[in-house]
Amino acid sequence: MEMKVKIGILGAMLEEVSSIKEMMCISKETSIADRVYYEGKIGAANIVLTFSRWGKVASASTTTTLINKFEVDFVLFTGVAGAVSHHLSVGDVVVGNGLYQHDMDARPFYKQFQIPLTEHIIYKPNSVDVQNALTAVNLFCAKHNNLIEQQLLDKYAISKPTVYSGIIASGDIFVSNPVNNQHTNLNINNEDKTLAVEMEGAAVAQVCVEHNVPYIIIRTISDKADNSAAIDFQSFVTDIASQYSSNIVKEFIQLV
Ligand code: SAH
Repeated sequence: MEMKVKIGILGAMLEEVSSIKEMMCISKETSIADRVYYEGKIGAANIVLTFSRWGKVASASTTTTLINKFEVDFVLFTGVAGAVSHHLSVGDVVVGNGLYQHDMDARPFYKQFQIPLTEHIIYKPNSVDVQNALTAVNLFCAKHNNLIEQQLLDKYAISKPTVYSGIIASGDIFVSNPVNNQHTNLNINNEDKTLAVEMEGAAVAQVCVEHNVPYIIIRTISDKADNSAAIDFQSFVTDIASQYSSNIVKEFIQLV
């Protein structure tokens, strides 16, 4: 990788951000608009890391700062998400190859989900970045049982995590009601189905596209976006998602 490339990394969970911070050699900390930005290196890669907090506004604001103040060349969002597709299990990973805002609805002026005054319904990251993210996650998954204690994997019934690339829906709603799942389902050409739901990805994508900065969103499935979604969430993030995030980041930054 070229040494000049600067990668902005965002996470919405403090535990995940902490596990990435632990890998970093930090040279500077800056506070801007209620967030702390850590500049430094992981290996040879230049990194700016921040804790975005949850939601579209929080993540849009932090992405803007990463781009405008820190001049990052690439944005990576790592976090957890609820599964919408029944094929997904807790511990699987989704790399977003399309992201839309499921709570955006300016009909009758625009189509459902369309970002007003733009042509965008689904933001699609560069396919080369999607491929790199899939490679990184697969490298991690191939050795996940060396990196995470078996007892913890058993606790969440994770045996062989599967990696998907697919559509992610974002909105300012924690989806913990199965009825809501229908609301988030987007059907394009009868093929593109939503795999996962979260609260930041499509906002990060919109900001990055408007600034012409490449980005990727990687999500570990933490729940099934149903009425059990809130159960054990905190322990999953601490036990599992943090380790996924730091290890996937480590693999991915070598490929950007
Ligand atoms: N840690 C909290 C739960 C956080 S859920 C707790 O103490 O229980 C919110 C974060 O997880 C957001 O950043 C969102 O992007 C993601 N997320 C995970 N599952 C989700 C779901 N079912 N619906 C929406 N967002 C979800």
